[in-house]
Amino acid sequence: MAGTIARAMAIGIAAVLAALDAQRVLAHCDALGRLSEMEGGLTRVFLSPQQREANTHVLGWMRDAGMDAHVDAIGNCVGRYEGDRPGLPCLMLGSHLDTVRDAGKYDGMLGVLSAIECVGALHATKTRLPFAVEVIGFGDEEGVRYGSTLLGSRAVAGTFDATLLDKADADGIAMREALVAFGLDPSAIARIGRKRGDVLGYAELHIEQGPVLEAKGLPVGVVTAINGGNRFALEIVGMAGHAGTVPMNLRQDALAAAAECVLAVERIARSMPDVVGTVGRIAAQPGAMNVIPGKVAFSVDVRAPTDALRRTAAAAMRDEFAAIAQRRRVELSTSLLWEARTAPCADDMQRQIAHAIDAEGIAVHRLPSGAGHDGMAIVDIAPIGMLFVRCKGGISHNPSEAITRDDVATSLRVFARFIAGFAS
Ligand SMILES: [Zn+2]
Repeated sequence: MAGTIARAMAIGIAAVLAALDAQRVLAHCDALGRLSEMEGGLTRVFLSPQQREANTHVLGWMRDAGMDAHVDAIGNCVGRYEGDRPGLPCLMLGSHLDTVRDAGKYDGMLGVLSAIECVGALHATKTRLPFAVEVIGFGDEEGVRYGSTLLGSRAVAGTFDATLLDKADADGIAMREALVAFGLDPSAIARIGRKRGDVLGYAELHIEQGPVLEAKGLPVGVVTAINGGNRFALEIVGMAGHAGTVPMNLRQDALAAAAECVLAVERIARSMPDVVGTVGRIAAQPGAMNVIPGKVAFSVDVRAPTDALRRTAAAAMRDEFAAIAQRRRVELSTSLLWEARTAPCADDMQRQIAHAIDAEGIAVHRLPSGAGHDGMAIVDIAPIGMLFVRCKGGISHNPSEAITRDDVATSLRVFARFIAGFAS
C-alpha cells in the first residue's frame, strides 16, 4: 500500500474528496427518475425514447466531468477520462441506466452517477492517474424489454449473443429494428467488445437491495461475489382420492410430500453459510377442498456465493427430495430450468475497496450479492469488485427504494479513495 499512499498524497486526496457533492448525485438521480414511460412511476426500458433522453443527460454530465463521451453500438453511455498520458488501459466503473417496471430511482443509476461524480472530482482538481478511467452507463441490465439480461455489459465483454437481434419485444419489434430506430448499427456491436488487458479492473457501486448493511448499522460493504443460482421445476405425483374415505395410512398425498420438501429446502439452506433457498411457486391438483392432492408442481431457487457450495446445497436438496418421495411412495421428477455461475469478486479488488472503507474509519463488512449485476458479464474480461451502499429496509425494484444523503456522501468518499489509489 506504500505506493498507493504516496500517490494519494501526491494527488492531494483531500482536495479530491472535498470536490465531491452528494447533493448533485441525488439531484441527478431525481432527474433520471423523472424519465419514465409510466405516469406516476418509473419505467425506462432498453432503446426507449426515455433511454434516449437519459443518455442525453448522462453524456452531458460525463462531459462536464471532463470525459469524452459517446453512445456505443448497443446504446451504452461511455465516458473516458484519460490517465497521465493518452491511450492507457482503464479502470472501468459502471452500472445500468435501465429500470424494471415501477422501479426505484437508485438501482443502477446511483452507480453510474457516483462514478461520474468521482471522475468530476479528479477533473476539478486536475488530477491524472497512471491509468484511464472509463464510466459506462449500461443501456440494458434488467432485461425487461427483450427478456434477456445484461445486454449492455455482455456487448462490452464481447459475449453478446447476436441471435438475440432477431428477438421481438411484446409489440413485435425485433431488437435489430429497435437498434436502427435508435440510430445505432447492430453490425457494430461485435466491435465494441473489450479485450482482456485493456480493462485493468471493473468496479461498481450499487445499492445493496437487501437488509444486511442496515441491520449491521453500516453505510457501505464490500461484495465478495455475485451469487450464482439454480432454478428447478419439480413435480410430485401421488394418488388423488376422497378426503373422507381414504384412511391416513393408505394415502399418497402429493402436497404433504411437497410440504416436507419445502421445509427441507429451508433447513438445508440455513445449514450452509450464505446459501439461500426459496420455494416461490407451488400448485396442487386437482385443488379441491375435499380431494387428496394427486399432483403438485413447485419451484426451487438456490443461490450461493460459490459454485461448489451451490452444487452441494442443490445435491443435498435433491437427495432429501428423493428420500421423502420414497418414504411417502410418490413419484418425483426434477428438471433444471436455469443455472448461472457465481461471479467472484477478485481478492485484490475486495482488498482495495476494503482499504478505502477502512480509510474512512468505517468497519469493513463483507457480503455476497444475492442479486445479479453487470459484473457477471464483465468478469469475463477483467477482475471485478463491488461496493454496496445501504438502502432503506433493503427494499429495491420498488418505488419506495430509498437512501440517505449521508450514505451517498460516505460511499462517494470511499469510491473516490478506491479510484485514486487503484493499483492493478
Ligand atoms: Zn441494479
